[in-house]
Amino acid sequence: MIKNPNPVDRKRRVCVIGAGTAGLCALKNSLEAGLEAVAYERGREIGGTWIFSEEMPKNDYDEVHSSMYEGLRTNLPKEVMGYPDYAYDNDIEDSFITSHQVLNFLRSYAEHFKLGPHIKLQHEVIRVRPRLDDWEVYIWDHNTNTCDPVYYDFVYVCNGHYTEPDMPDVEGMDLYEGKLMHSHLYRTADKFKDDKVLIIGAGPSGMDITNHVRVEAKHVYLSHHLATTPNTAFMGNVTQKTDVERFTKNGALFKDGSSESFDHVMFCTGYKYTFPCLSTDVGIQVIDNFVQPLWKHCININNPTMAFIGLPFNVIPTHIFDMQVRFTLKFFTGQRELPPREQMIAELEKEIGQRWDCGVYNRKKAHQMGERQFDYYNELARMAGIDNIKPVILKLMKDCGKKYIFELDTYRTNRYTIVDDENFLKNGKITN
Ligand code: FAD
Repeated sequence: MIKNPNPVDRKRRVCVIGAGTAGLCALKNSLEAGLEAVAYERGREIGGTWIFSEEMPKNDYDEVHSSMYEGLRTNLPKEVMGYPDYAYDNDIEDSFITSHQVLNFLRSYAEHFKLGPHIKLQHEVIRVRPRLDDWEVYIWDHNTNTCDPVYYDFVYVCNGHYTEPDMPDVEGMDLYEGKLMHSHLYRTADKFKDDKVLIIGAGPSGMDITNHVRVEAKHVYLSHHLATTPNTAFMGNVTQKTDVERFTKNGALFKDGSSESFDHVMFCTGYKYTFPCLSTDVGIQVIDNFVQPLWKHCININNPTMAFIGLPFNVIPTHIFDMQVRFTLKFFTGQRELPPREQMIAELEKEIGQRWDCGVYNRKKAHQMGERQFDYYNELARMAGIDNIKPVILKLMKDCGKKYIFELDTYRTNRYTIVDDENFLKNGKITN
């Protein structure tokens, strides 16, 4: 058995990297578990992704964290975006809300659980290194421009996963003379006024940004390889295209042999996991977006006093964050014992093997959940003896599946109300 961090005389100390949706709940649950916890946030305020700012990188090395754009409304209803112990206010009538409303919710969560004194804003974690018995964490205080090490027993990595664009390498990109960007830096549609725009990717961002940009643009081409064609007829000036074969000086040739010219290309092709502050001896590698070796997609097998919160995608984000935190805390506080390293590795290999055997997974999808998420929640709950996500949240989530692609014109008018742990109302009608 791996030696678990047993309770000792002094309070065990937790370092949380980031104060977005995941970091706030790691902080709150750690404090409630009786640990001494601090969340370091490099930004000027809490909220991460949900902070809208038109600030752009100043140079090639500068980084803007949030991918938030003007006019975004959530693609999940607020009824599943709350924490299990802190829901959105019922006074908000809409289910699909603005980024500002989400940000306000996160602020009220922090206030409600009195997290403020435990959050250090404008403090950036720049290096995390394991020592024999603890973690050495170097923190750069932006206010004083000083950098000092602090020592912790546990580390929660909650740095967010929507900052480093994943750009495909398409033939001829270097020849293309128009404007080229990734959705990470998309802010307002007016930049595309009367222009022709190629949008690549029909995931939640690609679909939603197409619907924003087409209002200002002369024409939008939406290039994707979805097996089922999404409905874009209601948008009017949008044409769907196959994947790009190669770019030309002022446009592209597509795989179906057609060609178009356009002024802008926007890649809505997703993001890469990056952990720039973790030193190599932390023992974590990211290969083709597969973060490894992790036990149950969160505990660092090589240094099991470190956990990553929120890597799985196609999930119920806030609920999975909370669950992963409660799961890991059972081990961090010594209430549950971790299996031996070999067993964790064997379980990881088994799961990955099953994913490969399905034929539809590759490394890039190693943390994709979708239909698997429900088994994952059951497993975490059973193994750590923690509360599972309530059935009503799971049912509601199932009701929302893929609507942001296939019912983009109507789905945000739906209004949900949670009746009890099992049932919800959809537009006033009971659904179970
Ligand atoms: P973030 O919100 O990114 O927070 C990470 C924090 O860590 C940031 O504040 C950052 O400044 C800080 N940080 C990073 N590195 C360091 C460091 N070294 N030191 C100190 N601090 C650091 N989810 C939904 O549930 N519903 C939606 O409708 C939805 N829409 C989305 C739309 C867009 C455009 C995007 C990009 C995402 C959307 N998501 C949505 C997913 C959303 O990002 C997650 O739900 C959630 O907000 C992620 O929280 P997080 O804490 O993991 O990351």
